[in-house]
Amino acid sequence: MPTIITHTAPVLVLGAALGVRRVSPRLFWVAAFCTVLPDFDVIGFRFGVHYADLFGHRGFSHSLLFALLCGGLAALAASWLRCRRWLAFVLIFAAIASHIALDAATNGGLGVAAFWPVSDARYFFPWRPIQVSPFALTAFFSERGLKVLYSEFLWVWLPCLSLALVARIVQMARLRAASHPRKNREA
Ligand SMILES: [Zn+2]
Repeated sequence: MPTIITHTAPVLVLGAALGVRRVSPRLFWVAAFCTVLPDFDVIGFRFGVHYADLFGHRGFSHSLLFALLCGGLAALAASWLRCRRWLAFVLIFAAIASHIALDAATNGGLGVAAFWPVSDARYFFPWRPIQVSPFALTAFFSERGLKVLYSEFLWVWLPCLSLALVARIVQMARLRAASHPRKNREA
């Protein structure tokens, strides 16, 4: 997996693209939480669940079916999330799907069971530039830890922050155009 903080990066982009008018703070924070939700499967290690098992690490919780189920639950809870149903579904589905995609782009561990129950196979992308993150926090204070953080900055944060910035600029330009319609027509 990439680090937990890095998993939240795609939601920052979506939040910036859709704006605070559409994405309520509650929906935003739930979506941010959902970007790390699949990795709660590591709890299974304590109960003897093996990595390669269906409910092991990167198993069921890293499937598109899990993303769809969570998106469906979010749609049902749309009024609590203070947003439209479709938006709750899309954002929560995207949050979990982005986690699956980022894991599939890492260079270690087993792949993700993205297509379970259609296939039990574990998948990676053909191109995997992200260094897999260690589980132990202390490992970040080492050469390997720095390599992980650098690869995440380069392949996740840099593209995500660039996209968020572009989305924000486009949105501000639209708002400005909408607030001065007459002026723009006269020009
Ligand atoms: Zn994961």
